[in-house]
Amino acid sequence: MLAREVRGHVYPNPPVGCVIVKDGDVVAEAATHPGGRPHAERKALDMAGPLAQGATLYVTLEPCCHWGMTPPCSDAIIDAGVARVVCSIQDPDPRVNGGGFAALKAAGIDVNIGMCRDQAKAVLSGFLHRIQFGAPEVIMSDEGLGMIPNGADAMLASGKNEVVLTTRSSTIGGELRSRDQLLYWMAELGLTTVAVPKQDAFWNQEETLRTTSERDYGSSTKLQLTNER
Ligand SMILES: [Zn+2]
Repeated sequence: MLAREVRGHVYPNPPVGCVIVKDGDVVAEAATHPGGRPHAERKALDMAGPLAQGATLYVTLEPCCHWGMTPPCSDAIIDAGVARVVCSIQDPDPRVNGGGFAALKAAGIDVNIGMCRDQAKAVLSGFLHRIQFGAPEVIMSDEGLGMIPNGADAMLASGKNEVVLTTRSSTIGGELRSRDQLLYWMAELGLTTVAVPKQDAFWNQEETLRTTSERDYGSSTKLQLTNER
């Protein structure tokens, strides 16, 4: 739930929720900060302070173990003295991909993987899609032009020769190119889930696209790429 609330607001990072429980009491809960940093684990650990010692930490996605814009969360969890980590899914990002779990286990932390896996996959679908295919997930939206539906990072409107990409912080104009070029361009921007209007002629004319109903987008429908890389 924590992760779902920030979905669409944290790209290029994944929407993650983190809860810390000590002696049966929730001592901290946090989600990835809007904009993607700080990560949920770090926010929750800051909130818990010394109460994290010996506690159980629940988290949507495997804690990071690499130095990105911030130090690794796995180090912060170890330093805080957390006793047990319960996590929904492993992070397929090649910079993590099991390394976070390995670091925690090496430090003597009890690690459980797989709780609420399906829910986590649904919330993280855009992020997982970009890691797997190198392109953001595209969903079809009933919302008006330029309106970004819940859970999407941006809305892409396509005209005759140009496109307009609306994110929550800016509007970017571009040239209308092939579908693959547009997907690559949006992936480069770090986007994980992009909405296009349901009536959009450009995306609808593509024969390689087929529409499937999707669970996590309310009135929106997900476009599936049939010949993904
Ligand atoms: Zn992290």
